[in-house]
Amino acid sequence: MPAVKTEKDLKALQLEGLKWTVNHAYRGSSFYRKKLEGSGVKPDDIRSLEDIKRLPFTTSKDLQEGYPFPLLSVPFEKVVRIHASSGTTGKRKVLLYTQKDIDDWAHFFARCYEMAELTREDRVQIAVGYGVWTAGVGFQLGCERFGAMAIPAGPGNLDMQCQFLVDFQTTAMCCTASMGLLMAEEVHKRGIKDRINLKKMIFGSERSSDAMRSRIRDLLGIEHLFDIPGMTELYGPGTGLDCVYHTGIHYWADYYILEILDPETMERVPEGEIGEMVVTTLCKEATPLIRYRTRDLTRLIPGKCPCGSVLPRHDRLLGRSDDMIIFRAVNIYPGQVDHILSGIPGIGSEYQIILDRNNDGKDYMTIKVERDQSGDGALDTHISKKIGEEVKKQILVSAAVEIVDYGALPRSERKSKRVFDNREF
Ligand code: ZN
Repeated sequence: MPAVKTEKDLKALQLEGLKWTVNHAYRGSSFYRKKLEGSGVKPDDIRSLEDIKRLPFTTSKDLQEGYPFPLLSVPFEKVVRIHASSGTTGKRKVLLYTQKDIDDWAHFFARCYEMAELTREDRVQIAVGYGVWTAGVGFQLGCERFGAMAIPAGPGNLDMQCQFLVDFQTTAMCCTASMGLLMAEEVHKRGIKDRINLKKMIFGSERSSDAMRSRIRDLLGIEHLFDIPGMTELYGPGTGLDCVYHTGIHYWADYYILEILDPETMERVPEGEIGEMVVTTLCKEATPLIRYRTRDLTRLIPGKCPCGSVLPRHDRLLGRSDDMIIFRAVNIYPGQVDHILSGIPGIGSEYQIILDRNNDGKDYMTIKVERDQSGDGALDTHISKKIGEEVKKQILVSAAVEIVDYGALPRSERKSKRVFDNREF
């Protein structure tokens, strides 16, 4: 757990790290120096944590434009490794690491296993991709540093995974949530639940519905499912974990500052409200991040966790800021509608949000939702009323709700288009 015990010490450590990072980036990188000078900020201007607001933002575009070695802030001889993102949009993002960066990453990743209350007796089956990306090697490094036994299985190959579960008596498995579901169904199908010893699963980099999670838990009879966040830009996976109380993801505020900002105004949103995650590293040497816009949405969770940790919490990822809709001066994210619908029985998972501007000049929202496969049409009025009430209560807007037949909305292999904005601006 972190070296600091109180919030005051954590803040002091953050200020020290912020000063160090701005100074280091200013001296080490012509990109950052130009950027800071453009904003009229000198390293000495950073005197309090509030001064972070004076710093310019860094974006994924900056990473791509600096390809292949963007944001490099140390001499090349200090770089010991690179990692790259899978590069689905545009060029790959390449990040560089010094030995200290790798050590820091291993240290805080080991904390993930500690947070999940594993011990050195645990056997950890790592079923994520090994390669130039950060997943496999990150889980591996953290596991070895923690002192548990790593089983570097890699993704897929359910046959081998099941064999390892039985033969090696794996106690914890790291994979994506969809792989977790496949595993759970496979174990169930083979009837080997009583021969395995799996107690915990750690899920990376993917949103998972509550329904999916409870199915996995039931089929495998396991104690805990954890969410592990992470992105290549910020070392890789392992930048936080929910504790056994599962009240949100504790994030490593002693390694980075997390700001939650309104993606339109770039001002801080009140604690508890949804906004874009913007991160600033505190001790990253090779490629430090200054106010890096992740485009991921989440919210800070107010109050203290029952576990007593000084490390603050953020919610699971709730979508991408590019998906934000502004409707009657309220910022809305499709993920919020998704979240409401997933809590209402009698409907399927497919939905559409339609926005229109009528002759009266006002904006109107219609939410189309599919009835459950075995749903009863007689309940439509009741269900649509319930959805309307929840939307009003949780998102503070009024929407007309239309229940349509199961299968009536289009589906696609990729992410379905859910928002149809017919308004003219
Ligand atoms: Zn906790």
